[in-house]
Amino acid sequence: MKVRRSGKARLTPYSLAVSLADVPDRLKYLLPRKWETVGNIAILKLRDELRPYDEQVGSAYARALGAVSVFAVEGLISGEYRRPSLRLIYGRSGETVHHENGVDYVIDVATVMFSSANHDERIRMAALACEGETIVDMFAGIGHLSMPIAVHSAPARIIASEASYQTYRYLLRTIDANGVRDVYDAVNIDNRLLEVKGADRVIMGYLMNTREWLDAAIGMCRKGATIHLHEAVRRNAIDEWKESILSDYGMGRVAIRSVRRVKGYSALLDHMVADLTYNG
Ligand code: SAM
Repeated sequence: MKVRRSGKARLTPYSLAVSLADVPDRLKYLLPRKWETVGNIAILKLRDELRPYDEQVGSAYARALGAVSVFAVEGLISGEYRRPSLRLIYGRSGETVHHENGVDYVIDVATVMFSSANHDERIRMAALACEGETIVDMFAGIGHLSMPIAVHSAPARIIASEASYQTYRYLLRTIDANGVRDVYDAVNIDNRLLEVKGADRVIMGYLMNTREWLDAAIGMCRKGATIHLHEAVRRNAIDEWKESILSDYGMGRVAIRSVRRVKGYSALLDHMVADLTYNG
């Protein structure tokens, strides 16, 4: 017996975008096969040849991915506030809510960085045993790393400093979106001005000479506290990196409990995190 197939085979989002994009056929092979989505916003890396067709490409990917806005990457995330460099090619704005692991992040992707590649680290943070702890998030962003703890791990208190006012405003909205105002205190200051003592855990999610802040982190800790130190480390030089932490903060002040690779950061560097114990 013959089985009659009904309807067309389903197109992948990429094939759909290619079929929808009103760009010359000779350029279609340049359309991106990968993209990042944050909430209902898509972010594409576009080749320069497609620049005259921003609008057509933006609208094709918006339809193919069900995105309300589409951005093209202009340059690297830069500066002390880690500001993205994106250009809007479809839609009105970069504001969205990104849902991940039961956490709602309120964000403007055009002004606040969000790394999809840090996903596993955010999941790891949510699974840490932090019940009753006082936690400091020194480089809070929109609570990328500490909001999962606030939502899932019943800490006593989280004190989060975010130096950029623009990002801080989204942090406040993220706190409200997750209903964690009772445990989460956000402050719009440079973390070196924090006056915290006796913290159980300090999160240092920043990759710009993070080591320079380690003294300040240690100063906030109780004996036995955990510090999550994020650094950009030369690939395959993990042992050297561990030795350099211990030689800078050795003599028993800190011990390295574990290290893990968060993601590739550049051609030569990996984003690593070391979980340290402050020995007092
Ligand atoms: N910690 C989050 C993560 O790892 O995904 C956010 C990372 S984002 C790269 C770092 C954030 O730290 C930025 O929002 C930046 O504005 C903020 N920041 C940089 N220097 C700071 C300082 N001295 N005090 C407080 N916040 C700072």
